[in-house]
Amino acid sequence: MEIIRTNHSGGVVAPFPAVAVRNLQVRYRSVLALQDVSLTLVPGQLVGVFGPNGAGKSTLMKAMLGLVPIESGTVLYQNRPLTQQLEQVAYVPQRSQIDWTFPATAWDVVLMGRVRKSGYLTRFSATSRQRAMEALERVGMADLRDRRIGQLSGGQQQRVFLARALAQEATLFFLDEPFVGVDQKTEDILFSCFRELVSLGKIVMVVNHDLGESITQFDRLLLLNRTLVADGSHQQVLTPEVMSRAYGGQVNFFTGQIA
Ligand code: ADP
Ligand code: MG
Repeated sequence: MEIIRTNHSGGVVAPFPAVAVRNLQVRYRSVLALQDVSLTLVPGQLVGVFGPNGAGKSTLMKAMLGLVPIESGTVLYQNRPLTQQLEQVAYVPQRSQIDWTFPATAWDVVLMGRVRKSGYLTRFSATSRQRAMEALERVGMADLRDRRIGQLSGGQQQRVFLARALAQEATLFFLDEPFVGVDQKTEDILFSCFRELVSLGKIVMVVNHDLGESITQFDRLLLLNRTLVADGSHQQVLTPEVMSRAYGGQVNFFTGQIA
C-alpha cells in the first residue's frame, strides 16, 4: 500500500525513493514561468501534469532535468541532486523540439538510447542491440525499424521515441506531450507501457495539454498554471472550482477546453 502524507506546503512526504521538488522557481528574463512549485514523485504512480498553454509544464520538466536554469529551489532524487543522476532518466521532449528531418531510421533513434550503456566510441553491444529490438517490438514498430523517422506518422514517431526511452532502461521517465498528434492505437500502447513501467516501480511523469476522458488513466494529476494549482487524484482535481482556477472561466470537465 502506498502511504502518502501531504505536508503543509502541498508537497508529499514519502518513505521511499522519490523525486522531491522544493520551492522551484524559473524565470525567463522578466517572465516568471514557475513560482514556488513543490511536489514529490513516487514510484508506482502514473503522474499527469496538466495545464493551459504557457502554464510552465515544459519548463517544469526541463528545470527538473537541468535543461533550463533554476532561479531558486531544489530537485532531489534519493536526497541527491537529480541533475547528477541523469543516467537514471529517460526524457522524451515535446515533438516541436525534435528535428524530424534528421536522417536517422527508427532503429538508429532507438539504439541512441543505449549510448550511455554502450559508450560513445564503442560498437553497440549485442545486449544493446537486443534491448533496442525488444523496445521496438514492445511498441509495435519492429517492422518499420529501417524507415526514416521523418517518414513515419505522428503516432509511429512517438512510439519510436518511447522505444528509445524503454531501451535506456531508466528509472525515471519524463515525457512531454507524447499524445499530441497520435492515433488511438498509439495512445493505447503509450498507456500500456506507462502502466507496465509504473508496476515495475519506475517513476513516470507525463505532460499533457488535454486528453479527454483518458485523463482518468492517470493515478495522480498535477494541475499547473505557473504555480501548482492542484495535486491529487482525478476525483480531487477535476472539480469545477479547481479547473477554473487553473484554466480560468468556464471549462469543460473532461477536455479542459474553455467553453
Ligand atoms: P507549457 O509547456 O505549459 O505550454 P512553457 O513551459 O513552454 O509552457 O512556457 C511557460 C512560459 O514561459 C510561457 O509564457 C512561455 O512563453 C515562456 N517561455 C518558455 N520558454 C521560454 C524561453 N526559452 N525563453 C523565454 N520565455 C520562455
Ligand atoms: Mg509545453
